[in-house]
Amino acid sequence: MPATTGLDTVIQDLVIANRILAKEDVVDAYGHVSIRHPDNPSHFLIACSLAPELVTADDIVELGLDGQPLNEEGRALYLERFIHAAIFAARPDVMAVVHAHAEDTLPFGIADATPLRPVIHSGSFIGKEVPVWDIADNFGDTNLLVTNIEQGRNLAKCLGGNNVALMRGHGFASAGRSLIEVVRMSVYLPRNARALMRAKQLGGPIKYLSQGEIDARNRGYSPYSTETWRAWQYWANKAGCGHLLTRPEDRGEPHDRERNR
Ligand SMILES: [Zn+2]
Repeated sequence: MPATTGLDTVIQDLVIANRILAKEDVVDAYGHVSIRHPDNPSHFLIACSLAPELVTADDIVELGLDGQPLNEEGRALYLERFIHAAIFAARPDVMAVVHAHAEDTLPFGIADATPLRPVIHSGSFIGKEVPVWDIADNFGDTNLLVTNIEQGRNLAKCLGGNNVALMRGHGFASAGRSLIEVVRMSVYLPRNARALMRAKQLGGPIKYLSQGEIDARNRGYSPYSTETWRAWQYWANKAGCGHLLTRPEDRGEPHDRERNR
């Protein structure tokens, strides 16, 4: 079978990512996922204003790093697309972005007492530091949504070189080197938050993952390794879109055991 890597495959992957995030309760009617354009790093792809569970390939639109559409087709766009635009602009290493309001992450953006950091092995990808961005610090009283590029840039500045930023009273933004990575991170972020919350209820000091443990997990990561693909395939099938998958060997990506050794 010939390699099918290209725009169509990337769009199909983005549809799968939307469905997975919906099925895993990371997003509901709101929240979104985007990917940098494979042929033009100053553009990105994201759905038009639609619940992620309902997104199809026809709903994907192309935006610039100012958050404005390339082809104005009159379709309503996500109000908060500036989150994605500003992160792609600030971070050339980032290939995919998720913004969501997952409930289990919210307490950690509100209470200063306990920072959200990795406490479980699958939470290691969120990175050791998870900064909290408070829109009120620079923009005063707002509706808490990121509705212009200035607010997006301020959020991206707070994110810095980290993988995830919490947004006070609102949700989170996560940034990954691949679509699979950012989806995986966004699925495990609320689970890590839940484990931490429950551990706090048990009482006593909290034992976070060490930097060495986080580094050891990251060293074993590659987006199309057998281990990573296993999760993507599982989630896609669970979300009812296993038929949309393009296997690593069909996209010219090595699906090898070598890189996992
Ligand atoms: Zn939001």
